Amino acid sequence: MSLLKVEHVQKIYQTKLKRVKTIALKDVDFSVAKGEFISIMGESGSGKSTLLNTIATLDMPTKGIITINGDRTDSIPENALAKFRREKLGFIFQDFNLLDTFSVRENIYLPLVLARNTKNKEGKLDSLVNSLGIQDLLDKYPYELSGGQKQRVAVARALITNPELLLADEPTGALDSKNSEELLKILEKFHKQGQTIVMVTHSSLAASCSSRVLFIRDGRIFHQVYKGEKSNHEFLEDISDVMTNFLNRGDE
Ligand code: ADP
Ligand code: MG
Repeated sequence: MSLLKVEHVQKIYQTKLKRVKTIALKDVDFSVAKGEFISIMGESGSGKSTLLNTIATLDMPTKGIITINGDRTDSIPENALAKFRREKLGFIFQDFNLLDTFSVRENIYLPLVLARNTKNKEGKLDSLVNSLGIQDLLDKYPYELSGGQKQRVAVARALITNPELLLADEPTGALDSKNSEELLKILEKFHKQGQTIVMVTHSSLAASCSSRVLFIRDGRIFHQVYKGEKSNHEFLEDISDVMTNFLNRGDE
């Protein structure tokens, strides 16, 4: 069974005056098996964040069905959505979204505190913090950290509830190349431990760390590439080829 099923999803944004319509997603259809690490690639404005936000139940599709581990998101009552997100999903964003008035430790505990599920929180924190190498940062505040350190803290916060699905929107977008590489290694490591990950990115290098890449253009998935037995380098070349071909499509 798929952990995530996205069926014929359409998203149209309409301004209050109902005059301007933006079709962000036309007809998006794919599924993700438990334990897969997939990337969704496309140019700026191609609908990547819209797609991720509809999966995250932060936004609802205009049409179509999204199912996460058997639950149709459109059948979850409005007042149960926050709980659903807290229990089933983890998020990482380009700009980290850490709370500056909370220490690193408090930031990481926050999802457990919100869920009133603080039993054995120290044990959960310890194992995550060790595997992320952020033991020495726990009493610091986000403004005292580098971008790379902030993103590692954000990963700890996203995973402390042991979510079914980790969603990442351009997680390397604000990082330099060394820190991007480190973050991608971290995501690969959690993937190897069984974490299901859906990452949105416009970086071929980032996408080459996943096991499958879906390409989005004009509101549809128009192509996909599997890593299979390829080396990271061969996979990166395949991904770059698709990106080059579709970026140059206007010249044909
Ligand atoms: P990407 O993340 O790939 O850069 P987005 O999903 O952010 O793309 O945006 C896709 C399209 O939808 C763009 O044309 C964008 O302007 C539009 N859009 C995104 N969010 C909104 C919104 N809240 N209201 C209106 N239009 C939006
Ligand atoms: Mg975006």
